[in-house]
Amino acid sequence: MNSKQARWKCPNCGDGILAPQRPRLDDIRRYCLPCSSKSGKLVERIAPALEAQRTRRKEQRTSMKKKKRQSQRRRIERAENTPRKIAERIYSKQGEYGMNIERETARLWKMLSKMPATLAGSHRNQRIHLNRPQPPKVQLKVRGWRAEGDGSIRTTGGTLGLAYMGQHIIKVAPKVSWETLAHEIIHIAGYQYHDRSFYMALKWLTETRWKMIVDFSGVTSYGYYVDRIIEQQIDEKVRAEFQKEGE
Ligand SMILES: [Zn+2]
Ligand SMILES: [Zn+2]
Repeated sequence: MNSKQARWKCPNCGDGILAPQRPRLDDIRRYCLPCSSKSGKLVERIAPALEAQRTRRKEQRTSMKKKKRQSQRRRIERAENTPRKIAERIYSKQGEYGMNIERETARLWKMLSKMPATLAGSHRNQRIHLNRPQPPKVQLKVRGWRAEGDGSIRTTGGTLGLAYMGQHIIKVAPKVSWETLAHEIIHIAGYQYHDRSFYMALKWLTETRWKMIVDFSGVTSYGYYVDRIIEQQIDEKVRAEFQKEGE
């Protein structure tokens, strides 16, 4: 049996006795018998010291919970504000020169649906547009880049962009260029290989978007160097457009 004693007081008459801290339920010391017989109902004694202790413990528990919540929140905030997280928030939405990735993708996808049927490989593009009128989703690549403490981005290898044709998803590195985004969109539109029809489609899209003629006189075969040829010819226009947009 618990030998610890507490003073129990009747709330009505103030009469107090010493009894165990946890008396049995049927222990008559729990109740003030004179007050009970007077009122006709059991009048329970209370132990002020125990009540105070209970309140204190409850307060302690509440403040411990509060502290725990606070430190958890601080931990989450810290995790959210790493250079990496900040870069993820920015560059999942914004490409080179501040280009709005989602808006540009939607624009190019819509443009591609109007590709002339005479263009090489356009039947694939038309079929894909019939099935998927909504633009592909563009996500930031997880690997291949690192954010520095000063907010700059260091690429650590891998490709600048990837097209998951079946999933209708494009993955890009931070600060994706217009040219790379367009390149991946052409893949999604049904052009799997970097062949002539691929680059004809990319050329058409570039010319339509930037209202210009892309000079292919230096192109003798098809491969990544063609992307650089396109890029060189449009860089000024791209910069002018998106820098203006970002202001
Ligand atoms: Zn009493
Ligand atoms: Zn490619």
